[in-house]
Amino acid sequence: MTSAPGAAVPTFRGAVRPAELGPTLIHEHVFVGDPELDLNHPHPEWDPEEAVEGAVAALTRLHELGIRTVVDLTVLGLGRDVARIARVAERVPVQLVAATGYYTSNVLPPFFRVHGPGRLVGGPDPLVEYFVRDIEDGIAGTGIRAGMIKVVTDEEGITEDVARVLAAAAEAHLRTGVTVTTHSRPALRNGLEQLAFLRERDVAPERVVIGHSGDTEDLDYLRRLMDEGATIGMDRFGMEHVLSDDRRVATVLALLRLGYSDRMVLSHDAACFSRMTPPSWRAVHAPHWHYERISRRILPMLTAGGASEGDIQQMMTVNPARLLAPAMENGVDRVDVAIRRHHGGSS
Ligand SMILES: [Zn+2]
Repeated sequence: MTSAPGAAVPTFRGAVRPAELGPTLIHEHVFVGDPELDLNHPHPEWDPEEAVEGAVAALTRLHELGIRTVVDLTVLGLGRDVARIARVAERVPVQLVAATGYYTSNVLPPFFRVHGPGRLVGGPDPLVEYFVRDIEDGIAGTGIRAGMIKVVTDEEGITEDVARVLAAAAEAHLRTGVTVTTHSRPALRNGLEQLAFLRERDVAPERVVIGHSGDTEDLDYLRRLMDEGATIGMDRFGMEHVLSDDRRVATVLALLRLGYSDRMVLSHDAACFSRMTPPSWRAVHAPHWHYERISRRILPMLTAGGASEGDIQQMMTVNPARLLAPAMENGVDRVDVAIRRHHGGSS
């Protein structure tokens, strides 16, 4: 199974060819919230209308800086609201891509305890059903299809529920060809564990992004991930409360010198609004953590440090396009096939 140069990539405004994606931020968020908290105890800094206007402005500025596509990895567990993002997407020049998956590093909500094979209510695992439906039919009745599958492992390790999410992601990947992307904890070198778990379930490492890898300077660990075939997400530029951008850039440059340009993607993991780290907190503790940091500061730093134009193009455009193009089997675009099957068409 290889990535498909001709396969369609779903965006909020419909499917595009990978070549149309252009410079891409592959790990971002637009709005991160908690629907139950938001309903019962709304955050004082959260005004949905103001937030939409702010996101439209931010994503419009980003296009002026040359970014053409932004992947919103806000999945279940982070307050995904695709209908709200669609209101932003229709007004901005950049293309937005939605994601499916589940964000939990420990346990799933009680619903999942009783639904699924061998459980009280039974039935097939709803996680697999949700992920595949998001990819093939679209999310929450919007018709907007997911272009990546997001999973998480962290300090708690691969708990029973986390294993269930990872297994469901592997299953959904095998059925759709859509790439799996992770939240990892590089200090624990747990990207290797994620990769091993997915490999055991027949997910090719070439179809996996180990996210947040830029949080470490452990070149040996990062090279092991890439030597296995995975792509690493150098995806938290501006998150200087974790690691300074100077050190993040130095790591990317060291890996470029070792020939790994085809295995790295650059992004911020930023958000227009996040209830977890609200704007007032970010203004004080993470002033550089926003969508524009890479275009304005990081790319010039990389260039000054010896990165070639080809390196930048590879990390910003070529690698994201390869990862977002659903994998094909025997030359058949399986998402296209799934869409045709679903809609009963023949072309
Ligand atoms: Zn993220």
